[in-house]
Amino acid sequence: MFGLIGHLTSLEHAQNVAEELGYPEYANQGLEFWCSAPPQIVDTISVTSITGLKIQGQYVESCFLPEMLAGRRVQAAVRKVLNAMAHAQKHGIHITALGGFSSIIFENFNLQQMRQVRNIKLDFERFTTGNTHTAYIIAQQVEKASAQLGINLSQATVAICGATGDIGSAVCRWLNARTDVGELVLVARDQERLQRLQEELGRGKIQDLATALPAADVVVWVTSMPKGMVIDPGLLKQPCLLIDGGYPKNLATSLQHPGVHVLRGGIVEHSLDIDWRIMHLVNMDVPARQLFACFAESMLLEFERWHTSFSWGRNQISVEKMDLIGQVSRKHGFRPLLV
Ligand code: NDP
Repeated sequence: MFGLIGHLTSLEHAQNVAEELGYPEYANQGLEFWCSAPPQIVDTISVTSITGLKIQGQYVESCFLPEMLAGRRVQAAVRKVLNAMAHAQKHGIHITALGGFSSIIFENFNLQQMRQVRNIKLDFERFTTGNTHTAYIIAQQVEKASAQLGINLSQATVAICGATGDIGSAVCRWLNARTDVGELVLVARDQERLQRLQEELGRGKIQDLATALPAADVVVWVTSMPKGMVIDPGLLKQPCLLIDGGYPKNLATSLQHPGVHVLRGGIVEHSLDIDWRIMHLVNMDVPARQLFACFAESMLLEFERWHTSFSWGRNQISVEKMDLIGQVSRKHGFRPLLV
């Protein structure tokens, strides 16, 4: 059995989904109520691999909302993640992906130290961040979608926003080792971490966003911003490929501009329909086939019976592990979403 711990993108989104799922007692409530709401298993999932293997899973809604990251509600955010993990473990789920902000909260608030959740001692081996598969898929999207748009990567400038993050640093490692990229631009706020990454890669220009954007042919967005930002498409090169891997999306509005192509990053398509309702609720275009790559990682670990925290900690994702998860991703019928 695999599991997915997820959350919705805002209070408004959560209220709408609660209404749709038949939880009217949640639908009319404000943030305080959501802060105290317990995790719930709201979907049972059945996935078939193209090899013929069939697995079962459960979706655990943590009831975390990005608004909780502001000020005094941070403790609620922490509780949401721990309680959802305990809930998954209590229900005997062998391997569970920590979707969206769950793994960011786990790391930023050092939840490794908070193993005991009431009567449950969390067994971290049962969890994966899913970030190795996400980074692999985004790296594939960079390579394949650029080719589709006629962007020659060997002469292109690729800017990674959130370069020092877990996913961003892995994408940088891949592009450095496996892809012939003209110029790699590293964007984030903490300069020391940027310099450490630059040293590790042995290349990469450190720039702020305002300098990086107008010069980039490809921009990968993998920042941990709880809300999207608006950018002026007139400032961008044309053609320009924007791969938005954030959840919630880093780019608030879908940019409508000729020559600017926005691709939903870190999304995979499965070759067969998946029997679930949760992807309808997060507005996937093809909900029976499209999903977050981190969720797909827990499916892959279940297909392969690798019941282990394949992706764990921060900034430790190697190109070899990306290769490995990429192989099983293809084997079971997943492929990156393209333009
Ligand atoms: P991390 O916390 O590891 O990294 C976040 C990165 O963003 C850091 O480099 C951070 O550096 C940078 N950052 C944060 N805020 C800003 C800002 N305002 N401007 C510029 N840079 C910023 O996050 P992850 O790598 O784990 O996740 C990244 C994103 O991917 C999240 O939105 C997450 O929800 C999403 N995600 C998507 C998945 C999928 O399947 N599609 C799966 C898992 C996660 P600094 O603080 O120095 O600025």
